[in-house]
Amino acid sequence: LKRSTVKELLASQDLDREVLVKGWVRSRRGNKYVQFIIVNDGSTIHTIQAVAAAETFPEETLKDVSNGACVAIRGQLVASQGKGQAVEIQATEITVLGAADAEAYPLQKKATSLEHLREIAHLRPRTNTFGAVLRVRHALAFAIHDYFNRHGFFYVHTPIITGSDAEGAGQMFRVTTLPPEHPPRTADGLVDFSEDFFGKPTNLTVSGQLEGELAAMALGSIYTFGPTFRAENSNTARHLAEFWMIEPEVAFNELEENMDLAEDFLQSLVRYALEHCADDLQFLNDQYDKELLGRLNFVIDNAFQRLTYTEAVEILKSAKQKFEFPVDWGTDLQSEHERYLVEKHFKKPVILTNYPKEIKAFYMKLDDDGRTVRAMDVLFPGIGEIIGGSQREEDYTKLTTRMAEMHVPADELDWYLDTRRFGTAPHAGFGLGFERLVLFVTGMSNIRDVIPFPRYPKNAAF
Ligand code: ATP
Ligand code: MG
Ligand code: MG
Ligand code: MG
Repeated sequence: LKRSTVKELLASQDLDREVLVKGWVRSRRGNKYVQFIIVNDGSTIHTIQAVAAAETFPEETLKDVSNGACVAIRGQLVASQGKGQAVEIQATEITVLGAADAEAYPLQKKATSLEHLREIAHLRPRTNTFGAVLRVRHALAFAIHDYFNRHGFFYVHTPIITGSDAEGAGQMFRVTTLPPEHPPRTADGLVDFSEDFFGKPTNLTVSGQLEGELAAMALGSIYTFGPTFRAENSNTARHLAEFWMIEPEVAFNELEENMDLAEDFLQSLVRYALEHCADDLQFLNDQYDKELLGRLNFVIDNAFQRLTYTEAVEILKSAKQKFEFPVDWGTDLQSEHERYLVEKHFKKPVILTNYPKEIKAFYMKLDDDGRTVRAMDVLFPGIGEIIGGSQREEDYTKLTTRMAEMHVPADELDWYLDTRRFGTAPHAGFGLGFERLVLFVTGMSNIRDVIPFPRYPKNAAF
């Protein structure tokens, strides 16, 4: 007999047949005549109930059927007499595949706090909350590939070990083969990290953009979707040391088209989740955030507000609200400013453009005024920055001048400059933080709760 998933059984119209289900026990209760065993197998947020009559299953045969145990249950799929479920299984055979010591099982019935679950991140996928989050995460990843595939983008794999710091922000994890006992030393006696990778300094990627630009200048429309590493002291609810980033890059696109792509892309992803994860989102809405579904529907139905950084600074300066950090033209916006614009002022997602060149990366295209660049940040309610992007500087001379101004070593990026030497073209792209998207769609409040194994300072053991 082939195993059915709980999801399949709950949707089944075909009753009074023999079925086999395998999963983990969520609870067992009953009386001396009958026991009710509630099982979840991860295929859905819902559980199925198996009914075990005492004449077939004396109590001692069920002693290992406790919370957390893995069981296989065979029986008749029948219409349920109880409330709350349409079908149930009249069990004829129950096998314990893996027992779980009920006393020691860390996921006890009483509600477990998200903070505590973070300490046992290896077990939390068995909870309703993390089951829901991980299924939504999967659906969004699938929708991302599907969106790009339908729009003629090619998925390009950019390297994880690299010699470049694409953001110039110095937040890199070093990759080294140096022997810890006797590392090579410079004349000053310091460890010579330029010898890192058999003679070249290397680090984990902070962004696949530079390599992605090269691919776009050959394939037209590309995207990357891979792990990204930033050694920032990421003790916020919005930063991880290891996160996943989606980076489309499109030849011939300018800033306007880049904004259109970002907006359509985000709306499509949210729409996909609403259509394909209805049960999980309903659960998260009811459990954590009563405005979640309303907010998701609002985002897909309303155009994003577009304005320049300069206009935003004017709004923030005349705001009644007192900010922790004052705003002045030329300073980078903090998340308190971003969230004010989105949540209080416009009450919708915002795309900010044309930031001062001093606070943005070297590769962004200079505006005609020479003071701002064609940057765009997409800001979302509850999140702040969800996307950072720009039109890239395609002119060789302007780009190398900017690099010199910003002390970006041109010799190390010679390969990158070849795109500007040979057949350059306007192009634009952006980076979407995958966990920030999952955070928004699930309504969770901490980024550590939307990735299976979060990496943050002092937390990388498993
Ligand atoms: P922030 O201002 O929030 O630190 P950033 O401007 O440093 O972000 P970018 O370099 O623009 O980030 O990266 C593109 C996107 O990647 C961001 O818009 C965000 O969604 C995501 N991102 C950046 N850093 C992190 C991080 N440490 N953890 C999770 N996501 C991140
Ligand atoms: Mg940052
Ligand atoms: Mg930023
Ligand atoms: Mg950014």
